[in-house]
Amino acid sequence: MTAFIGPEAIVKKRQEYFYPCTSYFYRKPPQLVRGSMQYLYGHDGVRYTDFYAGVSVASCGHCNPYVAAKTAAQLRELQHTCTIYLTEQNVELAERLAAVLPGDISRSFFCNSGSEANEGALLLARMHTGRRKFIALENGLHGRTYLTMSVTGLAMWRTDPELAKDQDVAFIPRPFEQGGDNEAAARRSLAALEALLAERGSEFAAMIAEPIQGNGGIVVPPAWYFPEVKRLLGQHGVLLIADEIQTGFGRTGRMFAMDRWNVTADIVTVAKGLGSGIPVAAFCTTNEIAASLNRPSASTFGGNPVSSATAIAVLDFIEGHRLVQRSEELGAQLREGLERLAAEFPEIITDVRGEGLMMGLGISEDRPELGARLTDDLLEGMKNQGYLIGKNGVGRNVLAFQPPLVISAADIAGMLTALASELAALEEQGEGSGAKEAAAGGESSGPSPTSAAPANPEGR
Ligand code: PMP
Repeated sequence: MTAFIGPEAIVKKRQEYFYPCTSYFYRKPPQLVRGSMQYLYGHDGVRYTDFYAGVSVASCGHCNPYVAAKTAAQLRELQHTCTIYLTEQNVELAERLAAVLPGDISRSFFCNSGSEANEGALLLARMHTGRRKFIALENGLHGRTYLTMSVTGLAMWRTDPELAKDQDVAFIPRPFEQGGDNEAAARRSLAALEALLAERGSEFAAMIAEPIQGNGGIVVPPAWYFPEVKRLLGQHGVLLIADEIQTGFGRTGRMFAMDRWNVTADIVTVAKGLGSGIPVAAFCTTNEIAASLNRPSASTFGGNPVSSATAIAVLDFIEGHRLVQRSEELGAQLREGLERLAAEFPEIITDVRGEGLMMGLGISEDRPELGARLTDDLLEGMKNQGYLIGKNGVGRNVLAFQPPLVISAADIAGMLTALASELAALEEQGEGSGAKEAAAGGESSGPSPTSAAPANPEGR
């Protein structure tokens, strides 16, 4: 065991030994020492109810006893062999995935992270089509490797802004307009896709998209959008890669988000919730497309017995405890509560959006700087009340609710009460889009009344 050093010392050590770009949430971040289902515990014994699940990762909760027992048993039995030998856990996992993946998607290539899964999917699309270029949505996020960062539209996660230029990526507008008409925005997005394909459709291998953008601010397209995208791409022989890395495994009230719209993409990428905390990822496709990856390719850790046994246990638990249905049902409760708050605090909350247990709350999104500051205030206040919420969005002004799918109705009710009190406190201070500051003729550049420390770095 490492000796206890405390949150301030950890921050100092991170500053000393991590890359300077490494970021975290909160002005005063907690040191987490233990997890149990939907709860995380601080070094000081404080219990936090987790409403972010490490960005949609802890699908079955933290240290879920059923999943952890299966992981531990596998660790003691057989830990690693690489796919050059035969083991049964990875084939069982592939079979289980084929049973839940849409349409005729039945083949899985296992790897270790979302970035790696998308990287593999993009390579596969190039090999299958013999074409080089990609289409991606503005403000999407697909990973941290060179190629996946190139198809990432979200500026803050494009470490090198020049990347997309190197990599033959065409971005089209996303089917969403802040404070505007989403139907119209989706029509514009589709028109841009149509024009691009008409002009040079034969150059593109694939379009990659998150069904519901996560880090981009929980952006849900109209139901007709992706069926139309798929139809247009099909006319030009361009594949659709569904990045279900955040949205997969029940997060949005369906096993996969694209299921809601009956869309079967050509390639589906999965990670995060599949391992509920243990790294496991895959890019999955049809027999025909999989045949195009026809040169030797293997992953040292992909499909290892421990990750595979864990993911099988996660699927068991999701199915056994009806977590997909639970996400839909509890998501409705969460949405209703957030909409109630939006009606009560219209100066602060500008939008409620999402599906299932993937909900976003736009905070003064019409005034991005103010919204980002208020989002930080709310995030900090909620942490102080024992609730860990996420934040995302282009302006970092969307509160993100993506809890473990084992969250309870009582947890949601408690969180909503706490959030109401934080919003009321902000309102009392005269904060919000239409409030005092605007009347006084401009956004305050001074520190927030609740922010003693300087604004804090980001997390993802
Ligand atoms: N795709 C999406 C939609 C993501 O949200 C992320 C990570 N936030 C990734 C890909 C990259 O996954 P990883 O960090 O596991 O490489």
